Amino acid sequence: MTTEANAQVAVIGGSGFYELEGLTDVREHRAQTPFGDPSDAIVLGTLAGVRMAFLPRHGVGHRIVPSEVPARANIWALKQLGVERVIAVSAVGSLRRGIAPLHLVVPDQFIDRTQGRPSTFFGRGLVAHIAFDRPVCPDVSSSLVASAESVGAEVHKGGTGIVIEGPAFSTKKESMLYQSWGADIIGMTALPEAKLAREAEICYASLSLVTDYDTWHESSQPVTAELILANLTQNVETAKSVVAETVSALSQARECSCGSALSNALVTAPELVPEDVKRELAPIIERYMSVGAGV
Ligand SMILES: [Zn+2]
Repeated sequence: MTTEANAQVAVIGGSGFYELEGLTDVREHRAQTPFGDPSDAIVLGTLAGVRMAFLPRHGVGHRIVPSEVPARANIWALKQLGVERVIAVSAVGSLRRGIAPLHLVVPDQFIDRTQGRPSTFFGRGLVAHIAFDRPVCPDVSSSLVASAESVGAEVHKGGTGIVIEGPAFSTKKESMLYQSWGADIIGMTALPEAKLAREAEICYASLSLVTDYDTWHESSQPVTAELILANLTQNVETAKSVVAETVSALSQARECSCGSALSNALVTAPELVPEDVKRELAPIIERYMSVGAGV
């Protein structure tokens, strides 16, 4: 069931980013979706006059490894709330000397090295191929960069994020291989999240917090969860200021093409799509395909 539009903008918080301060009129929403339960309860509230949803990707208390993040349920639950824009915050390693720990990156490309994660809402008799050549929303990304600059953060506009399966960090050789592919940062969660957001016609942009130099860097300390968490504490405070600043710029209607991503993507002849699939996917396909009578 599609509920009333409870939120316009969502923040998916990554490692270290478990709550969004400054929200007023706060309530908690436990969503159910055809794809299971989201990572945790979604916190709804108002920030800078904008209705917001906040979802901690790894669950409160950080209980969910990247491979287990229920990305489909997370994006679906946000869609049900009426969310049109997602700011996805995540911790990443740097693959470039010029991108130092504590810097922020707003990547504009991804390379997918995840394995076996459910990465589409489609199938079961309904085929769709979304365009993903530009995997993030240009407008939300620009707002993030402008906001980061305005709060005095060191931010890199654009760049390629490689998304690995994890949860182990890379070997040195893997890290060097990813550099040779042109990747700038390395993380474990932006995909399939960004793909699913596009399928749901939600704008998606990534605010990546650099915690370390990954494993290629000869002089760096070994990458450990401990080192990363120490840098995260500082980074997350900056990220929260950036998010607060960005949100106020995101209250107007969308002008990007994210909101019509499915307009040329649905391939299957509508009369051949099973009714139960149409009903289940109604929140994202009903603009394009009539869902049977009696619903
Ligand atoms: Zn967009």
